[in-house]
Amino acid sequence: MRQTYTSQRYTFARESSAASQSVKRIVVHRQGNPGARAINSLDWGNRTGAYTIHYYVEDGTVYRAIPENKHAFHVREARKAQAEGYRVTGAYGTRGDYDSIGIETVDLPGGGPGQSYHLSQETRISLVPLLAEIVQRHGLSVDRIEEHAHWDPWTRPEDLGNALYIPDLRLDVQDQIEGRTPWRTVQAHAFGRAAPSSWKPSPQTPPAPPQRPVDLSGVSEAITTAETALQDAKKRLQQVAQQLTERTP
Ligand SMILES: [Zn+2]
Repeated sequence: MRQTYTSQRYTFARESSAASQSVKRIVVHRQGNPGARAINSLDWGNRTGAYTIHYYVEDGTVYRAIPENKHAFHVREARKAQAEGYRVTGAYGTRGDYDSIGIETVDLPGGGPGQSYHLSQETRISLVPLLAEIVQRHGLSVDRIEEHAHWDPWTRPEDLGNALYIPDLRLDVQDQIEGRTPWRTVQAHAFGRAAPSSWKPSPQTPPAPPQRPVDLSGVSEAITTAETALQDAKKRLQQVAQQLTERTP
């Protein structure tokens, strides 16, 4: 699997004035406009002051937008964030996105059975190393990765909805961190349910050790010596057993 992506900095005009934050969780989104390009959404955000996102993933390209230590506006609903103990008040009133990183993904029309939109395989592949980096950078665990629908099941149930299965994404990120090959969400037809185990790559057979001529001289001699010692020991045991038998009245 591809381990890298093209990183592209996108600077919002007034991003430096955004409120500061410390990162405690990550929210993955779909852009909600299947087929639209990331750069157009970013340009629109820059024009209108909608500073909505830290990262925008489009296939093999990741746009880095709002810096991680600055707030971005990507989850309005605050009730679930509050219920889970996260900060929901701050410089921008009551919101559900304080202390979180928002990642937008470019969605595409159609997809697998039951899908009206999906993420490209290349977008899913880029998500895995990107998330692994963020999780490690902030010392988070992969269960701090959620989709927008988790925080707002009332108005955003389709974000990501059936475009991505978050439990599998977490396992893939953990695999990436621990040096294993991610396989669940990086398949051509992966979508919003658990990956069948038949997708799992068969474990790689370890390479055969290099063949070297083996020097066996001395081995048969050592075996003979060991056999002699063993026979001697048996003899002594028999003698001891004999003596014990003779002493028994
Ligand atoms: Zn969203």
